[in-house]
Amino acid sequence: MAYGMGNNQPIIILKEGTERSKNKDAQFNNIAAARAVADAVRSTLGPKGMDKMLVDSLGDVVITNDGVTILKEIDVQHPAAKMVVEVAKTQDSECGDGTTSSVIIAGELLKKAESLIETNIHPTIIANGYKMAAAEAINILNTIAIPVSLSDTEMLKKVAQTAMTGKSVGGQKDFLSEIAVKAIKAVAEKGEDGKYTVDVDNIKVEKRTGGSIADTEVIEGIVIDKERVHPRMAKQVKNAKIALLSAPLEIKKTEVEAKIQIRDPAQMQRFLDEEENTLKGYVDKIKATGANVVFCQKGIDDLVQHYLAKADIFASRRLKESDMEKIARATGANIIGKLNEMSEKDLGKAAMVEEKKIGEADMVFITGCKNPKAVSLIIRGGTEHVIDEVERAIHDSLRVIGVAIEDGKVVPGAGAPEIELSLRLAAFASTIGGREQLAIEAFAQAMDVIPWTLAENAGIDAIDVVIQLKSAHEKKGGKNMGIDLDTGKAADMVKMNVLEPLRVKTQAVKSAAEVANMILRIDDVIASRKAPPMPQGAGGMPGMGGGMPGMM
Ligand code: ADP
Ligand code: MG
Repeated sequence: MAYGMGNNQPIIILKEGTERSKNKDAQFNNIAAARAVADAVRSTLGPKGMDKMLVDSLGDVVITNDGVTILKEIDVQHPAAKMVVEVAKTQDSECGDGTTSSVIIAGELLKKAESLIETNIHPTIIANGYKMAAAEAINILNTIAIPVSLSDTEMLKKVAQTAMTGKSVGGQKDFLSEIAVKAIKAVAEKGEDGKYTVDVDNIKVEKRTGGSIADTEVIEGIVIDKERVHPRMAKQVKNAKIALLSAPLEIKKTEVEAKIQIRDPAQMQRFLDEEENTLKGYVDKIKATGANVVFCQKGIDDLVQHYLAKADIFASRRLKESDMEKIARATGANIIGKLNEMSEKDLGKAAMVEEKKIGEADMVFITGCKNPKAVSLIIRGGTEHVIDEVERAIHDSLRVIGVAIEDGKVVPGAGAPEIELSLRLAAFASTIGGREQLAIEAFAQAMDVIPWTLAENAGIDAIDVVIQLKSAHEKKGGKNMGIDLDTGKAADMVKMNVLEPLRVKTQAVKSAAEVANMILRIDDVIASRKAPPMPQGAGGMPGMGGGMPGMM
């Protein structure tokens, strides 16, 4: 008998236990989950934002107000919520800043979409309108951008300082931003089109406890957390010719246990001599290439250390592979696996290789490198916690300065660009007409969430702030007006030194709109039940009830 004829028997295609939600149910459920993520980070936005204390299952504690750090740490289960967390990660990898903002904007776009869906506007129309609005938003942001170049040290420092506001290292903002600008200037590379590229990975960061934040320094060259292997080696080598070896300078222990029968003492001596000759041979080979410095990725036998010291060759052992690569790039050396194949042309060059005491222990400095783009930072601070905070602050600063230089553009912060977007997108909406107009208007209103939240987190009347800012922006020359969180009044953010890279804003709008649209287009969630059920709070189809297990 045919199915469904007369008896309305549903066709069952899904396995028992599968959970399914459709249409508005699915949409509202997904929106609720995505908004829960935004709500989780909302209170951290801005210089007056609060911190979150994250405790993992092992009891380790992280205190931070960094959006992406928070979202990476918490165990988000709901699939739509996970999509929003991805926005923060994209924002972080593209810009190094603006993660909280991007997530908050995504949450607000979805909140506005929810109201539109309730008035029976189809999600596809909303998604279309949002797409148009996002594209227009990028245009608008470009028109309010301010040019910046590599030589604008003061402006670049302000960009770094804006990224650092609200972090606990705030007291050292001026000093740390200076350091960050110096480091970026050293690694920025000008392309043929006149544009700069900045690879922050070219800046090698070493951390050392002891001293204070003020002892943090930029070294033009490479610093490695190693010392020379033998006290009789000179601490300084001028005009260094550097050999990089990835193979050990010791005799490999045989894998299988070998037994050697030695019958008379002479034979024993021959055996030892042979071993010594091999080891001495290593040093002779290194010497023959003209090297006066050896960095070995593996171990160096005591005897080899002794002969190297006798031959006036400086050596360090067990370097990290990443350090070997950085030294290779900086000095022009080739990393050699077989000592026999090494020749003079494989050696790298540096004006000086030197061991120096930093804090409690020694480090090796390679300065005056062939490639001047090699830079290191030694981060100092009283405790490990302080150093980690400084590292995060410096890292963010390096990223935003780099991004600002690559694009050559910055925008004022403190809600100024969002208010400008809000007003101009609303005007744009009326030129579009049709049902998309409503979505674009909703998009425009969603932009207010940034100044609103900045005010809210500072304990200032948010409605008042948004109204003030809008009327300031409507006046001529008002596009830089943001909120001064100390007075609650509108102020020119260029004069207040609150500047951010343009890309932080464009990327946040772009990826927030993308994820909102992706979530809006889902009208059916089919989830098979996980087996076996997981321990408390994490089991089943996660969060199908709309809640967010594992969220704070
Ligand atoms: P995100 O993760 O989005 O970068 P933050 O907590 O760093 O979040 O806050 C960024 C917001 O704070 C931006 O809108 C930025 O313009 C604003 N902001 C930064 N410094 C100031 C300041 N001194 N006064 C007002 N707003 C500021
Ligand atoms: Mg920030």
